[in-house]
Amino acid sequence: MKSIAMLTISAAVVVFLTNSGWAQQIALTIDDAPWPHSELYQGMERSQLLIRHLNEANVSQVVFFVRGKWADSQRGLQQVQLYVEAGHLIANHSYHHWDFDNVDAPQYTQDILKAERVISNLPNFTKWYRFPLLHEGNTRKKRDHLRAFLTQHGYINGYVTVDTWDFYINHLVQKGLRKGWRVNMDKLRDLYLEHMWNAITFYDGVAKQFLPRPVKHTLLLHDNDVTAMFIKDLVELLREKGWTIISPEDAYADTLIKTAPDVLLNNQGRVMATAKSKGYPGPYRSSEDEHTIEGMFTKYHVWEN
Ligand SMILES: [Zn+2]
Repeated sequence: MKSIAMLTISAAVVVFLTNSGWAQQIALTIDDAPWPHSELYQGMERSQLLIRHLNEANVSQVVFFVRGKWADSQRGLQQVQLYVEAGHLIANHSYHHWDFDNVDAPQYTQDILKAERVISNLPNFTKWYRFPLLHEGNTRKKRDHLRAFLTQHGYINGYVTVDTWDFYINHLVQKGLRKGWRVNMDKLRDLYLEHMWNAITFYDGVAKQFLPRPVKHTLLLHDNDVTAMFIKDLVELLREKGWTIISPEDAYADTLIKTAPDVLLNNQGRVMATAKSKGYPGPYRSSEDEHTIEGMFTKYHVWEN
């Protein structure tokens, strides 16, 4: 009897620790939709693969931040409609994908409204804005102008909390394929998963240091070949590690980091900007740089010839 009682107590303690521990929750947010054709896929073919993998992984909702110019064609609109039909959210990622560092605020805001005209009639259109390159304004004046503009137009900033460089992994893959190199997909997947996991644990580690309770994370992904091929593996990895995939709506309701801090470091995401505002001296990124990722391609022997 005693041992059964002890077991019951142990189980209760485990449940208590799990519930009171640092809950690991993350939403998937996908930029640069609808990506056109690549070395591996036609646009529509890739979108279908991505949706199939999200379904197989039982992820019911992600958000696609759409480049207005790419959706402004029959090809692009078809891909976006596929995302809508699958129940995912559609949000604004500007029309031309300009870097806000290089454009003045009035020109930049017109570009946001131009994208809105392309996508606002779609069901599931949501007034979230994702800054291209995560550049939210390189001066306080520009930054504050945009913050006011987004509020006036009913938008929230579709911030990320976990920055990743999946786009650079994808870029290197395309570059190699164009040279006629053969890619080992298993090794590429391992490289991708290591990069993503490093980024997630890095930004969550900073959150743990500087925030009083767990944040609901938003993971930066891109509508490209590596995402379409490996999203299911990434979701499986996260769940194995005890993470829960949540909807973007749930993530953006997180009051803990809903208010943007008064710092100019905005291109590493909301957790990092918040930590900086509380005195975090850096480092501000984990392995999101060209040198590290190129080194990983060598380490993993991604190319077979
Ligand atoms: Zn983008």
